[in-house]
Amino acid sequence: MDFSLTEDQQLMVQAIRELMARESWDQYFQECDDTHTYPERFVAELAALGIDSMMLPENHGGMDADWVTLAVVWAELGRLGAPTYVLYQLPTLDTIVREGTEEQIEKVLAYVGTGKQIWNAAMTEPGAGSSLSGMTTTYTRRNGKVYLNGQKTFITSSAHVPYLVVMTRDADNPDVFTEWLVDMTLPGISKAPLDKLGLRMDSCCEVYFDNVELEEKDLFGTEGKGFARGVVDFDMERFLVAACDYGWAHCAFEDAAKYANQRVQGGETIGRYQLIQEKFCNMQIKLTNMRNMIFEIAWKFDNGLMGRGDCSMAKYYCTNAAAEVVDDAIQVLGGIGVTGNHRVARFWRDLRVERISGGTDEMMILTAGRAVLKEYR
Ligand SMILES: Cc1cc2nc3c(=O)[nH]c(=O)nc-3n(C[C@H](O)[C@H](O)[C@H](O)COP(=O)(O)OP(=O)(O)OC[C@H]3O[C@@H](n4cnc5c(N)ncnc54)[C@H](O)[C@@H]3O)c2cc1C
Repeated sequence: MDFSLTEDQQLMVQAIRELMARESWDQYFQECDDTHTYPERFVAELAALGIDSMMLPENHGGMDADWVTLAVVWAELGRLGAPTYVLYQLPTLDTIVREGTEEQIEKVLAYVGTGKQIWNAAMTEPGAGSSLSGMTTTYTRRNGKVYLNGQKTFITSSAHVPYLVVMTRDADNPDVFTEWLVDMTLPGISKAPLDKLGLRMDSCCEVYFDNVELEEKDLFGTEGKGFARGVVDFDMERFLVAACDYGWAHCAFEDAAKYANQRVQGGETIGRYQLIQEKFCNMQIKLTNMRNMIFEIAWKFDNGLMGRGDCSMAKYYCTNAAAEVVDDAIQVLGGIGVTGNHRVARFWRDLRVERISGGTDEMMILTAGRAVLKEYR
């Protein structure tokens, strides 16, 4: 197996390293985390490198990059301490190109390159979390218009995105699931922000739709195929979560390793003590497993070989393994790991949320377990 990077991938990694070395981003990220602010200035810098559009086809100004390249970029950004979770909606811009009308594609892609938040999908509702069968948000056709009514919850980025793709049921036929590309400035939409333990540089809101008037041209994808469309993006989202988590674990590991080699206690650097060495052995094993899993799945996707449970397995494994690595790193850092807003403490909070958002651990296990057994039926 060849783990070396292509020339293009090496250039991207080099550009990321230069960007991250240009200023003390960590201070900026900390301020954004403290104030629950989206790091737009940072994302605009990434956009200038083409990272926001890297997964878009070339005819839409993208690089048509593969999943291995995506993993390389996300892992390196994470390793250097970037809050890669604020970038979740960028690789899925391809969904807009795949499913949108010409008009929808044009208005959504107009935001590419700006660093601003662009879109997200809204599925979850108060009565529809792990199982979306309890969804009650509806669309109703009346006098040539379409009216949306209902409530979505836990919707990432919804405080600032100009568009949400909203999953609804036909009020007259609840078996029909359809998505709508909703302009978030329309009358009848209101939002209530939710506070979060982690992932605080991105917003999360309850979103209410009260007779929101849409046009037929706002239909997203194919009527009645909304549910199947939404599920297609689950794998990409889970893969991205795994790649983010691996990156932060790597960052925490390196912070802790440098510290262990210079912090002196009892006349020795703490890295000389076997109990500390044991942590590094276990951390390194988990990092190696995460990296191998992520890159194998990326390679499988790029070669049309990805299995149905692969991304669920990666999200479940990497989120938990990364949380353990970060927890060990905090232990090595001692008091400075839990005071003074060290970035490793931020990763710890972020990772706790990742075990729920984007699908819970339990649902990942069920999906992966079912897929494994199916192979042997
Ligand atoms: C920060 C954050 C951001 C999010 N962003 C978005 C977004 O942008 N768009 C969107 O649509 N949604 C979003 N979500 C929603 C997210 O996908 C749901 O929170 C998640 O699917 C779980 O739903 P729930 O919170 O209602 O928990 P529930 O489904 O009520 O689950 C509660 C507990 O029961 C367990 N459980 C449920 N069913 C089973 C089962 N069959 N077997 C075993 N255990 C089970 C769960 O694993 C969990 O431990 C976000 C959530 C969070 C926290």
